[in-house]
Amino acid sequence: MSTGERLSSAPARVTKKLPPASLVSLPPSERALSCAHCVQYSRGAAARQADALEFRAVNYEADNLVFATIYGGFLVTSLALAAVVVKTGLLGKNNAADIGVPTLPLGELHGDAGATLLAKLGGQVALSTKVSAIEPVSGGGFRIALAQGDPVTADAVVLAVPHEKAAPLIPAGALPEQTVAGWAGLGASPIVNVHVIYDRPVMDLPFVAAIDSPVQWVFDRTKISAMDRPGQQYLAISLSAADQFADTPVAELQEQFLPALAELFPAARDARVTEFFVTRERRATFRQTPGSGALRPKTATARPGLVLAGAWTDTGWPDTMEGAVRSGLAAAAELRRTMLSTASKTGASPIGERQ
Ligand SMILES: Cc1cc2nc3c(=O)[nH]c(=O)nc-3n(C[C@H](O)[C@H](O)[C@H](O)COP(=O)(O)OP(=O)(O)OC[C@H]3O[C@@H](n4cnc5c(N)ncnc54)[C@H](O)[C@@H]3O)c2cc1C
Repeated sequence: MSTGERLSSAPARVTKKLPPASLVSLPPSERALSCAHCVQYSRGAAARQADALEFRAVNYEADNLVFATIYGGFLVTSLALAAVVVKTGLLGKNNAADIGVPTLPLGELHGDAGATLLAKLGGQVALSTKVSAIEPVSGGGFRIALAQGDPVTADAVVLAVPHEKAAPLIPAGALPEQTVAGWAGLGASPIVNVHVIYDRPVMDLPFVAAIDSPVQWVFDRTKISAMDRPGQQYLAISLSAADQFADTPVAELQEQFLPALAELFPAARDARVTEFFVTRERRATFRQTPGSGALRPKTATARPGLVLAGAWTDTGWPDTMEGAVRSGLAAAAELRRTMLSTASKTGASPIGERQ
């Protein structure tokens, strides 16, 4: 099955007309907007925003989009990044905010697929191999010291680790010291996932965005976790910018989120919870606050052959998988540009050229 086929894209169109209501809150039954119902406005629909209900829905949708991609609400996030998300998702093509849900674990979708392609091209992937230093070699190239095992030599290096790991690995002279020191200002923002296994199905949609609820997004992870035995459902609540939940004891999260789920999904009120657990990524993304853009470096460094990549670099995009992919493409293009021009001057074999 191709990657494209493995992603089931939920077409997001305005298929549900919400009844007029106050702008302040929605009744519980309306708080779970299935993503099939999540509002995506074409240019035409956006132009008809005079309707207060549609305006409210756009607000909710924009806020949900921004929260899920920039990991914070409009008031605390970088306006430039919020504008990228809203412009792309709500004002771009009418399918630009369609949401793809992986139907297999991301490790398989991205990791295994990437490793297979690299192997086919003659590459080797070393997993669980920590780089401890990158040392430029006189005459060109690099010596990569590993925390364990023999060092590796390389013509070129794409340093694609998070900013707090990249800073100590940057060789002297590759970037101004204050640039590298400034990366600490990018900080970190947590994502907390709350996992609930019920003794029966309670949600009949693949995923849901909730409004007026502490629940942000809920995903049905039953199939992807190979738990699709009859009579149970595994839901995962994903909480971005989850500072307030990063250290909250599991029991307190349970007290807050089980009633919130029951409010969204009536069937959950009678269901028994067979398992409840929480996973926390304290450094899930960098903190995409106003001013963070100035701290994100370009891919090129002053060391020929050494480039930066990673969703935290200056991609113009939020810290997302899309941003990470874009950074990789930029790094490859930069290496190809600089290494090819170096090679043509020296007559050496250029990287990226098939022999
Ligand atoms: C819980 C969670 C949910 C998320 N949900 C979404 C989502 O739904 N959609 C979305 O688009 N994005 C999501 N993100 C964000 C997304 O995962 C990141 O934007 C993306 O993974 C960044 O990719 P990256 O390659 O820049 O960095 P990473 O994926 O962090 O990769 C960096 C790699 O460098 C390795 N490394 C670090 N130090 C060293 C060293 N010294 N030597 C060798 N290797 C090292 C790390 O082990 C890691 O594998 C989520 C993130 C989290 C944590």
